[in-house]
Amino acid sequence: MARDDYEIVIGLEVHAELSTKTKIFCNCKTAFGARPNTQICPVCTAMPGALPVLNEKVVEYAVKAGLATNCEIERNSKNDRKNYFYPDTPKAYQISQYDKPLCIGGNIEIETSNGTKKIGITRIHIEDDAGKLNHDDLGGGSLVDLNRAGVPLIEIVSEPDMRSSEEADKYLKKLKSILEYIEVSDCKMEEGSLRADVNVSVRKKGEKAFGQRTEMKNMNSFRSIVRAIDYEAQRQIDVIEAGRKISQETLRWDEVSGKTFSMRDKENAEDYRYFPDPDLVAIKLSEEYIQNVKNSLPELPESRKKRYLEQYNLSEKDAKIITSSKYLSDLFEKAGEISGNIKAVGNWIISDISRILNETEQDPISIPFDAKQLAELVMLIDKGTISSSIGKKVLEELFENPRSPEEIIKEKGWIQISDEGAIKEIVLKILEANPQSIADFKAGKDRAIGFLVGQAMKETKGKANPQMLNKMFLEELNK
Ligand code: ADP
Ligand code: ZN
Ligand code: MG
Repeated sequence: MARDDYEIVIGLEVHAELSTKTKIFCNCKTAFGARPNTQICPVCTAMPGALPVLNEKVVEYAVKAGLATNCEIERNSKNDRKNYFYPDTPKAYQISQYDKPLCIGGNIEIETSNGTKKIGITRIHIEDDAGKLNHDDLGGGSLVDLNRAGVPLIEIVSEPDMRSSEEADKYLKKLKSILEYIEVSDCKMEEGSLRADVNVSVRKKGEKAFGQRTEMKNMNSFRSIVRAIDYEAQRQIDVIEAGRKISQETLRWDEVSGKTFSMRDKENAEDYRYFPDPDLVAIKLSEEYIQNVKNSLPELPESRKKRYLEQYNLSEKDAKIITSSKYLSDLFEKAGEISGNIKAVGNWIISDISRILNETEQDPISIPFDAKQLAELVMLIDKGTISSSIGKKVLEELFENPRSPEEIIKEKGWIQISDEGAIKEIVLKILEANPQSIADFKAGKDRAIGFLVGQAMKETKGKANPQMLNKMFLEELNK
């Protein structure tokens, strides 16, 4: 049987580090990249007798995430201990949530090639992150860095509702965009702020029961997730087709070989001996509290998109690209306001900026220039100081080494030639060098003009004003 006879089933458990200033149960800082073990205290290093106190911001951020993904908010929630030993977790348990997570039963809408689809969210709960092991190549041992221990996480568990790697990719992108919009996490995947456990199973089409799943832990790149799902689904199909059974396992995806490898047998909930953490009080949320958080939610991508369709007359597709990231969308609005030409700003974002981001595999949040600089670029073109083809070169400079576009064009000598005398000189020179084009034009071939303008642009390295060139060639040829 071929792959077409099977259906892939995917569920994601996404961990997002919350962007609170301090940790979940102590006052230590959460900044990324600090020197090892400089952001620690007795609580997050699990000294005997140290007592955790829940950071209120963590609850607020988790509730925000729940409301933004259409979840019910649990009025009576609590923290539970999830027991396991790991060298980067000195408590020998994680403080998580078991049977009373803060948020349950939500959903996120994604756009697939067959229309929109709702992906169910089973739950969102809060928990503490573990420390980090740095494997020491010189000493041969491993060093423990506890700066990350106690950084707050939310875990967003989806229903097994996705049916292809494409749907999983869309779901994760949409979730990331929502978390960015509500500003609860910076979602920097390369720093591990957003990572996903990917659960995959397959079943024959038409079958009701789900197949046995495997789980790939801690994945933090969209591309690897797509590749890993496709590989793992095919591996499972091959195992089943060979008459063997899938075992419940935790797998490791290896990017280089493009294969999954078994890490360990999967543990079940009962293995963790969950119980309510006796050091922490219950989390009781009032209606008023939940309403206040609801009122504080910013405009979400869906409604921003709708607003763009009406307010700026953007196409559905363009509005979707711009609102897919809060960062792009803010850039669009700010640069639009400064330049007074939001249409042009939108065009830069949809075309050249998106292309460069794609080619360099960058996230919009890492765009190095700001709205003011993009606005200046648009204004320089509008004023005729530079042509749009020079504009493209300025944009590339902005990505390389961001500074004022005015400065860039002065420094590079890219100012557009709009002086009548200078343009005329170029036009005459090009005409003299291309008698055939003159003959073509006289014979009724209007296309010859395009060629001549092209030659003039080449001669001036894109600096001549194309409208003026066009006009002046016509004048000279019609003389
Ligand atoms: P655990 O934490 O032990 O992995 P959970 O039930 O919390 O278990 O999470 C399971 C995740 O796996 C969820 O995202 C769920 O949608 C997904 N899942 C469950 N069963 C299957 C299955 N048969 N195939 C694919 N995904 C599944
Ligand atoms: Zn601490
Ligand atoms: Mg899991």
